[in-house]
Amino acid sequence: MRISIMNTQLSREGMRMGCVYDDLGVPIVINAAGTATRLGGPPLSKAVTEAMAKAGEASVYIEDLQYQAAQLIREVTGAESGLVTSGASAGLTLAAAACMARLDVAKMRQLPDSRGIPNEILIARSHRNAYDRALTLAGAKLIDVGIDDWAAGAGVRGIEPEIFAESITDRTVAIFYLARPEERISLRALVSVARQFDLPVIVDAAAQLPPRENLRRFIDDGADLVVFSGGKAIGGPQGTGILCGKKELVASAALQMVDLDVPWEAWNPPRLLFPKEALRGMPYHGIGRGFKVSKEEIVGLMVALRQFIEAEETQAQMVERIRCLAGQVAGLPGVDQARLVLDAPTPLLQIKLDEASLKRSPWEISTSLRYGTPRIAFNEQLLHQGILIVNPISLRPGDEDLVVQGLVKELTRSLR
Ligand SMILES: *Cc1c(COP(=O)(O)O)cnc(C)c1O
Repeated sequence: MRISIMNTQLSREGMRMGCVYDDLGVPIVINAAGTATRLGGPPLSKAVTEAMAKAGEASVYIEDLQYQAAQLIREVTGAESGLVTSGASAGLTLAAAACMARLDVAKMRQLPDSRGIPNEILIARSHRNAYDRALTLAGAKLIDVGIDDWAAGAGVRGIEPEIFAESITDRTVAIFYLARPEERISLRALVSVARQFDLPVIVDAAAQLPPRENLRRFIDDGADLVVFSGGKAIGGPQGTGILCGKKELVASAALQMVDLDVPWEAWNPPRLLFPKEALRGMPYHGIGRGFKVSKEEIVGLMVALRQFIEAEETQAQMVERIRCLAGQVAGLPGVDQARLVLDAPTPLLQIKLDEASLKRSPWEISTSLRYGTPRIAFNEQLLHQGILIVNPISLRPGDEDLVVQGLVKELTRSLR
């Protein structure tokens, strides 16, 4: 398959990697940025790609495959049930839909039109973020709660969970919580408020792995639904995620996602995810019909999840790799400091540019590296401070050398 070769130099880079992208004329990227979706996430392990290829060789009932995935998700999260979704974001949309519709098929058929259906989800103001529109996509309405002076740095008080009670009405269907390592709002305390009103708590834990203990943590704290990205640290296919939690809510999500164009009488699905006896008829294609997950992706996620649970020493190996890289980068012309950040869930290397010695701005340098030969993508979160961050999670063996070479070349030509 040789479609077109658009840039011979970049193509040579791809060819060296023996990679399909060469045939497509798509330059590969040395990914020092992390798990970003826009970079396609971390490379998949051989076990995952092989399992996905095998999964493509036969047909199955997706319901049966999702049921087996649910068993695995139960085992690793401690949740009652689980579903493989097309990413954490889709998981949030399905979570919102589940909290609005529960097992009411008429409501499933009506969403995302939520007129006449209780549809309000409470959210702490400091938890508003660019991913929360995934909830509104299902027809839910977000109700901002509280003033968080901790988060703003303006005072001594954060949001007390009790304040959520003031905003709960008969239109409220759930409370949303954004999990973060340094979060000061207690999930346990929030859950106890929610319980008084019989409301579920939805947790966005998309990027809260590692540590792998977090697979259980939010469920242990009482969350009713938790989403994780499958394509971030778990190392599954980029287009996957996990939704886990209470049986009825996960079942509602499954019913609103999976293709169920089956005659009612002829339908005999696994009841954990598809509780037929609790339904008044079949939902139409639910609002999650466009969030389909292929059998190959479900299998790939399952294999990746097992590997993620069983892997030994990944943290220590990543530290070793960036320690090595730091040694090579420190002292390069144009580099002020190479600093290891080891107290983050994933160890990072911060490369502080010596801006006084450079005639180009950090943005110009990062842009040049992004579109250079080879393309090298850094995490640009601290670029405004002149810092390029290396997150080692998506680096392949040998990529460190290309990162160093790229930096040397770029910084040398940027010196005053
Ligand atoms: C990455 C992320 C998501 C989206 O996850 P996908 O699996 O890419 O859909 C949602 N919320 C937060 C906080 C994230 O970091």
